[in-house]
Amino acid sequence: MGTKGVCYLVATPIGNLEDMTFRAVRILSEVDLIAAEDTRHTVKLLNHFHISTRMVSYHEHNEKDRSGYLVGELLEGRNVAIVSDAGTPGISDPGHEMVTRCIEEGITVTGIPGACAAIDALVISGLDTKKFTFLGFLSPDKKTRGKEIEEMKGYEDTLILYEAPHKITRTMKALYEYLGEREIVLVRELTKIHETIWRGNISRAIIYLEEKLPRGEYVILIKGEKLAKEEPFWSELNLDQHMAYYIDQGIARKDAVKNIAKDRNAQKRVIYDYFMKKQDMGQEQE
Ligand code: SAM
Repeated sequence: MGTKGVCYLVATPIGNLEDMTFRAVRILSEVDLIAAEDTRHTVKLLNHFHISTRMVSYHEHNEKDRSGYLVGELLEGRNVAIVSDAGTPGISDPGHEMVTRCIEEGITVTGIPGACAAIDALVISGLDTKKFTFLGFLSPDKKTRGKEIEEMKGYEDTLILYEAPHKITRTMKALYEYLGEREIVLVRELTKIHETIWRGNISRAIIYLEEKLPRGEYVILIKGEKLAKEEPFWSELNLDQHMAYYIDQGIARKDAVKNIAKDRNAQKRVIYDYFMKKQDMGQEQE
């Protein structure tokens, strides 16, 4: 069999056409085939950059079948680019299925990085960027959505959510119901003329959205929650009190030494020596 093609995951702008990279334009011009989430949408981008590469549709409803066809093309040596309507393919957009199929078939997969709403929103939010968790869209099912939000409790990372414009107020109310008051950032219309950042807490966000829902695409960011760590029961006890605690429960001294070492993440020998020394000293005094 001849050389296999390469599968490129090409990021496209999330609003501002200037965010298209030189490399993305070149790759989309050079590949044999572009698999686009919505060909009618992508044709506008291609026209803007004078790209005339053949396109096929590749969306959530035909992802499985279409991946088979695209893998066939790649196995025959043709290069394929995957693009979504906006941003990075595979991030709350089709793309992942193709990547796994290519890996199975030993086809090279490479990314052409560019815009991603989650990352752009995170870096300008002012929230902690060291640790973050991207959750994408919450479930449309009320019960499942509630469970998903419930699981966010106690997360120390910054949480990032995507939401469709007409569901943003509903989602904010659900966040308030399950998480209570939390600090959040709403980032709207990234890279576009009306890009705005709103910072505040959830209850104020609901009022803000209900007063006049600013239209557009949103990323919701929730500040991580620093929960006070529960101290272990022995944290206030010295070694003798710790031993007395176990003896009172009818545990033999030998096993109590083991437990103490485990609790304190200490060497058993060190704990053992401490009590042996005490015992010897006690005997000397008698
Ligand atoms: N693959 C895309 C990416 O890399 O960001 C995400 C696609 S997802 C189907 C669409 C969601 O991304 C929107 O509902 C919104 O939450 C977010 N989004 C996309 N473009 C945005 C923008 N310009 N401003 C704010 N959020 C945006």
